[in-house]
Amino acid sequence: MSTIQRAYKTELDLNNEQITACKKHAGATRWAYNWGLHCKQEEYRTRGTSPSAVDLRRELNALKQTTVPWLYEVSKCAPQEALRNLDSAFAHFFRRCQLKHQGKLRGKVGYPQRKTRKHGLGSFRLTGAIVVFSAAIQLPRLGRLRLKERGYLPTDAKILSATVSEQAGHWDVSVLVEQDHVVPTNQGPVVGVDLGVKTLATLSDGTTEPNPRHLRSCLKQLKRCQRAVSRKPKGSHNRKQAVRRLAALHRTVAHQRANTLHQFTSRLAKTKAVVVMEDLNVAGMLKNHHLAQAIGDVGFGAFRRRLTYKAAWYGCWVIVASRWEPSSKTCSGCGWVDEELALGERTFHCRSPQGPCGVVLDRDLNAAINLAKLADSSPDNANACGEGSAGAGRTADVKLPSVKQEPNTV
Ligand SMILES: [Zn+2]
Repeated sequence: MSTIQRAYKTELDLNNEQITACKKHAGATRWAYNWGLHCKQEEYRTRGTSPSAVDLRRELNALKQTTVPWLYEVSKCAPQEALRNLDSAFAHFFRRCQLKHQGKLRGKVGYPQRKTRKHGLGSFRLTGAIVVFSAAIQLPRLGRLRLKERGYLPTDAKILSATVSEQAGHWDVSVLVEQDHVVPTNQGPVVGVDLGVKTLATLSDGTTEPNPRHLRSCLKQLKRCQRAVSRKPKGSHNRKQAVRRLAALHRTVAHQRANTLHQFTSRLAKTKAVVVMEDLNVAGMLKNHHLAQAIGDVGFGAFRRRLTYKAAWYGCWVIVASRWEPSSKTCSGCGWVDEELALGERTFHCRSPQGPCGVVLDRDLNAAINLAKLADSSPDNANACGEGSAGAGRTADVKLPSVKQEPNTV
């Protein structure tokens, strides 16, 4: 038995008074974050040092009595947690700077930016006296707020914090709890998973997971909404209304996509003992404008993230194969590597010079079988199966000697 931290997110059912209070909290959070960022920059410029969240909090408490008395209207947690977020934003920035320096990072290092209301009202985090009821949650300063879903939030767990966030006019609360957790013994099979765009995933046991392509099915509607926004004069009420409609549609698509991935990753983690997947170069593929929309619509990054944390809960082991592994080009029957295999060829035919072994398989299925085989060649495979918590939830990179070639695409 071990303790895990887990967040439960659900929608709030607020009245107008409560919405105003939540907006005030989100506003105070944004303000404190921006003020803290300004203080840090100023002090760095003049003295070369940077105040910590604790220093800033002390300074902010003094300011409350003079220039920003309106901060008394919100819970003291909101600005405090904002300053804490700012500290971690800088910590991430410095960590990424170091990675960049070592040449391990290609992307941007991400210097902390000012928060703006333009991209949504944002969120705020509260700690302290939080009580969960079956259909309501009680938060400091905000009081008892109704929930839209009954019985989802755990009532008996130890609550660490609650984060309230706004998206397209909807308010959600995410409750972070600490729970006792027993990792079950997972006796399921070993599967290789080949991710794709035409089908979301092909498993080495021959089953496939369809790709519902939520974005594509809403694209016409989204385009119409987007056009409606750009036709309205800036600053007008009609434009605001059109923006709201567009945001609501984006939210729907995002939720549909998340739902598909949640169901699929949960099923994998609960029923399979070992899952082998490719380390796809998602950031690289997104740079290809022809592929970007289709790939973004699947959510490969979210798939891997969700599968990894769920695997830890359900005693499944995730192996991430190197992106240089020629899983699509290798014959799953005899191991011959077809260097000339084109991206458009959907079926794999074995044409080994030592005599073809007769494998004729769907391209993705062939790749999935090759991935599944990697589980056997993985060095600490002994811990992978059936050992519950000992082998559970770890991820490992499998690096087999293979020739340098184009990174895997879908
Ligand atoms: Zn073969």
